[in-house]
Amino acid sequence: MTARRLDGTAWAATIRAELQPRVDAFAHGHGRPPGLAVVLAGDDPASEIYVRNKIATVAQHGCRGELFRLPSTASVDEALALVQRLNGDDSVDAILVQSPLPSAMGDDAEQRVFDAIEPLKDVDGFHPVNVGRLVQKRQALVACTPLGCAELLDRERIPLRGRHAVVIGRSDIVGKPMALLLLHRDATVTICHSRTTNLAATCRTADVLVAAVGRAGFVTPEFVKPGATVIDVGINRLTEAADVAAFFQEGSRRRQQFEARGSVLMGDVHPDVEAVAGAITPVPGGVGPLTIAMVLGNTVTAAERRAALRR
Ligand code: NAP
Repeated sequence: MTARRLDGTAWAATIRAELQPRVDAFAHGHGRPPGLAVVLAGDDPASEIYVRNKIATVAQHGCRGELFRLPSTASVDEALALVQRLNGDDSVDAILVQSPLPSAMGDDAEQRVFDAIEPLKDVDGFHPVNVGRLVQKRQALVACTPLGCAELLDRERIPLRGRHAVVIGRSDIVGKPMALLLLHRDATVTICHSRTTNLAATCRTADVLVAAVGRAGFVTPEFVKPGATVIDVGINRLTEAADVAAFFQEGSRRRQQFEARGSVLMGDVHPDVEAVAGAITPVPGGVGPLTIAMVLGNTVTAAERRAALRR
């Protein structure tokens, strides 16, 4: 058996196309497009790519995407001042502060800066007001990656009601909101983490398994019930030939990619899981494009909700 591939790239294109009339209607009705402000502090190369993709995507749909840079030497007070300025700018509907912030800003910088974002503009859904509203199943802006996973499960009509869903990972940005979204779809949810005992056996009871660990190939076939749906959130960059050789056969497309580029992206799920699972998201081309589509979706939603409050 080979698992059915859940094509995140194709669904992201569909979702983005569906959002276009809402972007156009907002722009027509308000004389300006929905606006996303992205704050990038420091010069982390991966963050540069993520930020560029997010801004390019919203711009492709006619939204205003603007980048606000802070140097790696910026203080947390400077970041807070920028967020306050964007909170007060009526043409900015959505604010995204790219993580990680430079370590020089201090251990609590991210929490302080995320907490300063006006909840109605909190496109990443990290603010405690949005998290609390999600817990209570009220209207909220929800973190883009788990929201994209839930959207994929809905659109692929993967049964969730009464099914067992296991999420590996309990981060605030993926694991916890993912578990809540599954719970709100009437799944029975287990959250696993680094202190979970009998991890593989627990995962093997899952009808839907979500891996958000950050360790390449961590989820092996022994974690997976035959026929289960597996959502691979992990994005891990392999740069060592030995690691690539451990996962991908000689002559395979991924090995060729590595030889050409010197690195290759891989999820948290081992390639051998494809022979056990019923359906699986690829990496790349699974959760990643859906996350970006949700940034666009949350930007439009934030613009609409703010406008509705003014009426
Ligand atoms: P994170 O904050 O580092 O959280 C990782 C989670 O995995 C933690 O809860 C940790 O448990 C758990 N974990 C680590 N080792 C484990 C082990 N041996 N057994 C069981 N659980 C273990 O990471 P994150 O931000 O949630 O991201 C997870 C992955 O998703 C990363 O690869 C990241 O790059 C990727 N990601 C992808 C997207 C996308 O758009 N596709 C977006 C965001 C993140 P503890 O809590 O006990 O430490």
